[in-house]
Amino acid sequence: MSTGTRQVKLENELARELGRCIADFGLISEGDRIMVCMSGGKDSYTMLHLLERARRKAPIRFSLLAVHLDQGHPGYDGSKLAGWLASNGFEYRILSEDTYSVVKANVAEGKTYCSLCSRLRRGVLYNAAVELGCSKIALGHHRDDAIETLLLNLMFSGQLKSMPPKLLSDDGRNTVIRPLLYSAESTIAELAVLMQFPILPCDLCGSQENLKRKQVKNLLTALEQSAPRAKESMLAALSNVRPSHLFDAGLWQKLGLHIEPERGDALADVMGDSSSVADLPQRELAEPAVAAAAHTGRTLRVL
Ligand code: SF4
Repeated sequence: MSTGTRQVKLENELARELGRCIADFGLISEGDRIMVCMSGGKDSYTMLHLLERARRKAPIRFSLLAVHLDQGHPGYDGSKLAGWLASNGFEYRILSEDTYSVVKANVAEGKTYCSLCSRLRRGVLYNAAVELGCSKIALGHHRDDAIETLLLNLMFSGQLKSMPPKLLSDDGRNTVIRPLLYSAESTIAELAVLMQFPILPCDLCGSQENLKRKQVKNLLTALEQSAPRAKESMLAALSNVRPSHLFDAGLWQKLGLHIEPERGDALADVMGDSSSVADLPQRELAEPAVAAAAHTGRTLRVL
């Protein structure tokens, strides 16, 4: 396959996935002005390229504003990115805010900078979106980011969550969208090479990659040796959640999956405490008499 044909094939595949993600979660509406966050890496270039393609073809009107933040890293030179944006006809802004000095001053030697650095960057970009009149902020996270985040949360913070395709910020001022979430990093990386995007180096900050994220990446790479479609399956799992097979009592309540109060109380009596049935572990519900009570709603008495 020639390079040109391969490029068209990859671009079409990514454009389809982006369109599906936008449609599935209503990421873009008529009249939106979308601030496209450009880190200067492969993901953000690809996202902007695909959003522009979608904008030209879409039946609704929306506009794009590419925004890049110069964080004051030593040796930073964003001219390649600015040149590319200008020569491709994009409306853009380059913002400057020395978050690097703040991070250096506040993070202990040997610790990774990323957490504080990204929080500061987010703050600058969220404020800029309001000032620039943007209704949405687009971030270039992809499938692999989502899966790594899922595993990080499972392994280190006891939470079953990944990255939302669309999120209203806590203060209600910004809506963040992630239109690349259905796309594999390897596909994006290949297209970025073929399209010769002028990538900005991402090691200027001198930070070490987050150790836990690195651990998860290695785990996934190892997993793919024995289960080559593991990432595809994990992405599918994120769109195929069975709350009834999880044990989040609050979620059960919200979804109306909990057993009616009187049944729950009866079960709690049987189990000798006052917790609701949703709090009971699966093995206890499997106990025949209790399970039957849950099914029939009959009150059980402790004999
Ligand atoms: S890699 Fe560097 S620039 Fe990126 S978030 Fe971490 S500290 Fe910030």
